[in-house]
Amino acid sequence: ADTIDTHAEELGRIDAVAGDGDHGIGMQRGSTAARQAAAGAHAQGAGAGTVLARAADAWADEAGGTSGALWGTILRALGTALGDQDAPTATRVADGVAQASAGVRRLGGAEVGDKTMVDVLVPFADTLTAATATGTPLTEAWDRAATAAETAAAATADLLPRKGRARPHAEKSLGTPDAGAHSLALIARAVHGVLL
Ligand code: ADP
Ligand code: MG
Ligand code: MG
Repeated sequence: ADTIDTHAEELGRIDAVAGDGDHGIGMQRGSTAARQAAAGAHAQGAGAGTVLARAADAWADEAGGTSGALWGTILRALGTALGDQDAPTATRVADGVAQASAGVRRLGGAEVGDKTMVDVLVPFADTLTAATATGTPLTEAWDRAATAAETAAAATADLLPRKGRARPHAEKSLGTPDAGAHSLALIARAVHGVLL
């Protein structure tokens, strides 16, 4: 939520190039509501799965817009994979991110190359899965995956949008990265900073 606050104006500006310019404000509303819901659940002693499920619902309810529903799906998938019990293993975290990626593709119908957050989510999940499968510790695996996400987000500048509100203004978006791809890479990097 802090990272999104810092970048809200930039995200709105990117979304305004070919979309409707509300990505910064939508992400702010969603992540702030998710932060509050997570803190409330945690204060009541809830485990990671429940904390993430409450955060998911709050994000989807408060954010509005396409990305709000998709971020709700991401947090819900992570919560389901982690559950409320013991400290999750690195492979369980990677499974959760893979489930999140599958869930976003199922709900939004976008694939890699359509110039959406899927262009970042897929390489992020794949890099995390590959790294944890060979026994790389979570923080190092996540670091590698976040770098892959940043590279993929920058590369969306060369793509033409085929999904979402930016599609009718496709040519205008050439040279600018996708807003939802960029915010996902920012969040992936920020989460690395708080992983234990
Ligand atoms: P809205 O488009 O409803 O105004 P936002 O501006 O918050 O919502 O989010 C726009 C972002 O959502 C896009 O930059 C893109 O990354 C993502 N997006 C839009 N449509 C889809 C889709 N069908 N699948 C995956 N991501 C999508
Ligand atoms: Mg928008
Ligand atoms: Mg909108």
